[in-house]
Amino acid sequence: MTKETKELKRPSGRGLTEMRQMKAKVGVVPNADGSAMFTFGNTIAIAAVYGPRQLHPQHMQDPSTGILRVNYDLLSFSVSERKKPGPNRRSQEISKMTEFALLPVLDIKDFPNTVIDVQIYIIQADAGTRTAGINAASLALAHAGIPMKNLICSVALGKLDKELIIDLDKDEEDFEGGEGPTDFPLAKIANSDQFTLIQLDGKIQPERVKEIIDLANKACEKIYEVQKKALKEVIEQ
Ligand code: UDP
Repeated sequence: MTKETKELKRPSGRGLTEMRQMKAKVGVVPNADGSAMFTFGNTIAIAAVYGPRQLHPQHMQDPSTGILRVNYDLLSFSVSERKKPGPNRRSQEISKMTEFALLPVLDIKDFPNTVIDVQIYIIQADAGTRTAGINAASLALAHAGIPMKNLICSVALGKLDKELIIDLDKDEEDFEGGEGPTDFPLAKIANSDQFTLIQLDGKIQPERVKEIIDLANKACEKIYEVQKKALKEVIEQ
């Protein structure tokens, strides 16, 4: 460890690879077919799954498979500066990339002409909302009994000056020093080498990608433990 690294302090006071406290609870929306809450520190995501159910209008149906439809919503009161309610480009992009992140583990070929709706609500936001949403959605799909090969675990990495840090909060995401703000959200299939999402907002040297993957793998192991515990709690009830 260099002298520089030792002296670097995250705004949150956490160690460079220290994650925020995580919490997960399954079965939080009784009327949904499956539901879950997942938190990274002050970021709270709720996911509710409805379906599989017949897709309308009929011309959108696919006779060869079921369809996954995600709707991510950062609620107006979830951030300190009130967000205008309703969809925007950001929420549409996050909804789509959440679908891409989750689809590889879903086995929905046996549900032709149907849709599985996943509603993700961010009720409190302090960065990492898309990754918390993916973790909650993965749990909610499992809770709904949708056939899945495995769970999906998701976390964001970033940089504090030149050092890689894990699970950034909003102050860290906005950090302007050094090489500028960098946000690197990832999602992967639990207990595997397969990543289903890698996004990059900012700059990173290509030779550091291996380092990022290693850190993401370690973080995802911790996320998976929290997810498994939450699922076990509901099974044992
Ligand atoms: N944010 C906000 N208002 C918005 C969108 C985002 O205050 O309309 C904040 C919120 O805390 C969010 C953070 O900016 O978590 C980072 O947003 P980003 O688009 O990077 O996605 P995230 O890190 O939440 O996945």
